[in-house]
Amino acid sequence: MPSESAPSSRPVIPSRTPGELARETLKVLASRRIAPTPENYVRVYAEVAGTSSLAAPTAPAAAEPDPDWSQVIRDLLRQLDVRHAGVSLAQKRDGLERLLINFRRSPQLGEKLASMVKAWGEPLPSSPGSLRVEAEPAGAPDAVLAGAPAVAPAPWRASPVFNGIAAMNPPAAGMTLLPMVEDLAQALRELLAGVFEREVAPRVSDYPKLAGTVSRLPPLVRAAVTPADCAAIDAAIGHALREAELAHVEQRLIVEDSMALVRMLVANLAELVDDDRWVAGQVQLLEQTVAQPPSSRTLADAQAQFRETVERQRELKQALREMKRTLKELIAVFVERVGEMAQSAVDYQARMLGYTERVRVTDNVNGLRDVLDDLMVDIRRMQVDATRSRDGVLGVGEQAARAQGKVVELEAELARVSAALREDVLTGALNRRGLDEAVEREASRAHRYGSQLCFAMIDLDNFKKLNDRLGHQAGDEALRYLVSMVRGMLRPSDTVGRYGGEEFVLLLPETPLEDAKAVVERLQRELTRQFFLHDNRKVLITFSAGVSRMQPGEPGAEALRRADQAMYRAKRKGRNRVMLAGGD
Ligand code: GH3
Ligand code: MG
Ligand code: MG
Repeated sequence: MPSESAPSSRPVIPSRTPGELARETLKVLASRRIAPTPENYVRVYAEVAGTSSLAAPTAPAAAEPDPDWSQVIRDLLRQLDVRHAGVSLAQKRDGLERLLINFRRSPQLGEKLASMVKAWGEPLPSSPGSLRVEAEPAGAPDAVLAGAPAVAPAPWRASPVFNGIAAMNPPAAGMTLLPMVEDLAQALRELLAGVFEREVAPRVSDYPKLAGTVSRLPPLVRAAVTPADCAAIDAAIGHALREAELAHVEQRLIVEDSMALVRMLVANLAELVDDDRWVAGQVQLLEQTVAQPPSSRTLADAQAQFRETVERQRELKQALREMKRTLKELIAVFVERVGEMAQSAVDYQARMLGYTERVRVTDNVNGLRDVLDDLMVDIRRMQVDATRSRDGVLGVGEQAARAQGKVVELEAELARVSAALREDVLTGALNRRGLDEAVEREASRAHRYGSQLCFAMIDLDNFKKLNDRLGHQAGDEALRYLVSMVRGMLRPSDTVGRYGGEEFVLLLPETPLEDAKAVVERLQRELTRQFFLHDNRKVLITFSAGVSRMQPGEPGAEALRRADQAMYRAKRKGRNRVMLAGGD
């Protein structure tokens, strides 16, 4: 057992400040493994400060004389009801409550109670050394400190710690310093326990083991009194942290496994659809996206692309299904018509035989004329039927061919749409459609996560002149050069799109405005360092740019419009410069 009354051989250093003395006191308490109770603190403080007369009595409990409890309680009840100048009933109760807490197991309880009760009925002592806190406002009648030890070092009053405590919670009349320290400790215990209960517990509820460990912390904190209790809390927190680390690792493994699964699925999808160029192209894009390290951005991009692929595939399938149905119907009609032709051929054959028979048995001209008339009618009917059947067959054939052509056309159209879907053919940047989609996507993403999104509108300076001087081909090359340069400088999450002719837009997610401006200015500098070469001649390309940051609730297109306006201001100011948009 550590001794609480070890004699001190510490030299007195009078020049130390109260703050230093307080720190030293805490160190001594810790090194001697003495519980930091108010009494012990005061005793050791006095020892450290060299004011040995302040040492609190530490006689063993057995040495304390037994108080006359019946007298103490009687006095207490009587004095509690009696009105005393300067001490209200509430203050008395408060002092009593604190005393009962502070001395609940102390042999001094009876003595303290008696002196507190006595003090209620007495005029205030005003000795300068008494441990008393001035009641506020200044000038209000002082109150005796209930339950305070009879000693207190004068430096306490000047101590920053003391002043800090007093400022946090101005003491009421009758409140002692030691109850205040106890109050503070209690408040800190409650604060820490509350942090675990209200802040930590709800955030770990998905991890039952960790949640169990965290739920055991608040009661430990609330019951903590001794250094051993603090050590137990420390161990429990360490345990919780290790469990949190394990949960984190597990979470990361789940994400990695999920991504591996998605990659497998996407690779498999590519195999399934390789006969369809559009979908294959989309799947390739998707493969590139999910090959990147998993992040919320990768997943959101993959989701958007996958959704688009699925929708297109559904459209294509629907169209092909329709075509197949049409072809089937046409074939059914075709078979029916051929059947009709065959049937009418059989019918007419029978009729011809009938006529042959009638010719054989008829021996007068009138009879033969009748036969001939009937024959002519049948032949004409036969002709009409034959033509109709032939036309029908031809018509069905034509329709079938047309349907077939439609299928081919549809596939070609889809392939063309795919090519033109998002990319600008000349520069490989996003085209206007792709750009619009990206603006929409990034804006809603930034709004959702409350992150920063910046736009830059870039317009090449005097590009018409460059075209006129070096030819349209050179102009095209310059545009390609610019985009490749931009691509080399942006982060993977940034986007470059061609807004129109020689105008480009940069989307810079999670980028503060100053950084966005810096990126564009760096691009400007790079263009003056790494010249665009045309026929081995250095050609200087410059641009004017406007940069904006999307405001909370602002549509992406609006922020882009502000960047465009800023770009026009840059033009008016003389070109080859970057301006910030109004409102930023
Ligand atoms: P400013 O500094 O005021 O922007 O002058 P500018 O000449 O760049 O602007 P203007 O809008 O008058 O002309 C833009 C020119 O960009 C017109 C067009 O010939 C050229 N341009 C647009 N698209 C292309 C393209 O795809 N290839 C080439 N070579 N030139 C293009
Ligand atoms: Mg322009
Ligand atoms: Mg221009």
